[in-house]
Amino acid sequence: GFKCGIVGLPNVGKSTLFNALTETAAAQAANYPFCTIEPNVGEVAVPDPRLEKLAAIAKSGQIIPTRLTFVDIAGLVRGASKGEGLGNQFLANIREVDAIAHVVRCFEDSDITHVEGKIAPLADIETIETELMLADLDSLEKRVDNLTKKAKGNDKDAKEQLDLVNRTLVLLREGKPARLVERKPEEERTFSMLGLLSSKPVLYVCNVEEGSAATGNAFSKAVEEQAAKEGAVAVVISAKIESEIATISREERAEFLETLGLEEAGLDRLIRAGYRLLDLITYFTVGPKEARAWTIHRGTKAPAAAGVIHTDFEKGFIRAETIAYEDYVAFGGEAGARDAGKLRLEGKEYVVADGDVMHFRFNT
Ligand code: GDP
Repeated sequence: GFKCGIVGLPNVGKSTLFNALTETAAAQAANYPFCTIEPNVGEVAVPDPRLEKLAAIAKSGQIIPTRLTFVDIAGLVRGASKGEGLGNQFLANIREVDAIAHVVRCFEDSDITHVEGKIAPLADIETIETELMLADLDSLEKRVDNLTKKAKGNDKDAKEQLDLVNRTLVLLREGKPARLVERKPEEERTFSMLGLLSSKPVLYVCNVEEGSAATGNAFSKAVEEQAAKEGAVAVVISAKIESEIATISREERAEFLETLGLEEAGLDRLIRAGYRLLDLITYFTVGPKEARAWTIHRGTKAPAAAGVIHTDFEKGFIRAETIAYEDYVAFGGEAGARDAGKLRLEGKEYVVADGDVMHFRFNT
């Protein structure tokens, strides 16, 4: 599955948000830096109204949404790349995630200590990014000597790697994250093997006070502007509200959100933003037993998409009976879509589209 790491300075609301996400009351949020020591892992359902619609049409017995994993990563402080705080552990945990949800404190509360002494979201973002970049600098500098030796020995792979490493180093020394390094498509594999922390896509989560959940505030606006400049994404959320929403029933939820002037729970927006950030799409399998959503990267071909369900589906792939979501709905289900000529037989080269309803045929 796909993993999103929740990071941020201590006391910004990470635990509150994570607990709300997983709807557990465990890991008590406390007004104390480093209260989240072990990384907590939680799986959340990706909300998708299309799935309920498909299930209603097919009268499916069960609805199984697709899931995204969130990891609450222990507090980071200035100096983490030099081993301060829980530095090394933090950096090891972050290496394993596909994307970073960076929680930024945008609420004022004199009762809650800010580790840097004042509310300054842009400075906080820089503090964290700097630690990630310093860790990357360190890991790349360690590789250079060895690669240089190999490159001298006419090792073609080493030469290409060294070139990429040096280009990345130039950027990092300018204080820019590794994700901005220009690279050719054929370098992508090598680049991801470097496992650089500042190469991960980032989503800023602006944690605002309850009264600003619908509108945002001056702090969150500054973060949004910064995100726009970097081509990144920002989401405004109130971790406090989300933790309250997590404890009430679905029926009460809509009413509660309305009184706050919110159209939907911030977490739903967050999960979807994470999904977009990772460039993921959903396809469906629908039948009387169950309606189920599956997650793949955009651009995945039919056999690999089938492989998400079972490796046998990929190995023995013959074809995929495919109906676009809109057609499935418009023609009242599989039979109707088939009669209307909307059921396509797709082969190995078919690139799965978001919303496709699929039925795989395979050899065993
Ligand atoms: P973490 O260290 O980043 O995991 O932060 P926590 O989630 O433990 O939150 C630290 C403290 O800030 C806790 O006492 C929370 O209740 C409080 N807190 C979190 N979000 C908000 C918020 O939006 N407004 C206010 N006033 N307090 C918050």
